[in-house]
Amino acid sequence: VSATRDEEASAKLAATEANTGAPTIFDKIISKEIPSDIIYEDERVLAFRDINPQAPVHVLLIPKLRDGLTELGKAEARHEDILVAEKEGIVDGFRVVINSGPTACQSVYHLHLHVLGGRQLKWPPG
Ligand code: 5GP
Repeated sequence: VSATRDEEASAKLAATEANTGAPTIFDKIISKEIPSDIIYEDERVLAFRDINPQAPVHVLLIPKLRDGLTELGKAEARHEDILVAEKEGIVDGFRVVINSGPTACQSVYHLHLHVLGGRQLKWPPG
């Protein structure tokens, strides 16, 4: 891991450390007050292209109703992911990933979700 990657990770942490619970830019994207490249929408979710893509396809899929769920680490018990994260002691920071197909390094063809944590994760992922 190069120093540059560590600096990038630190900068990302510094830029994103505060979760005040305040409304975000995504509220304005949901209300169409701010335009976005929407690729799917229904009554519950909105999928739109990231303004700063980290791969040729980089889509953000968000629930329309935030309902206090500002980050996955603050999810309630009904969310299976957070039960895993709590059990493993990584609630302060973890990543949920679904690999799909050989280009994303999927190796087992039974749909599954990875919960990764326990170390400083880097962004963008490889
Ligand atoms: P995070 O850093 O919270 O994991 O991801 C937030 C993502 O939202 C970033 O990848 C960022 O590029 C994207 N983003 C921030 N503001 C906007 C915006 O106004 N429009 C769109 N389409 N994406 C945004």
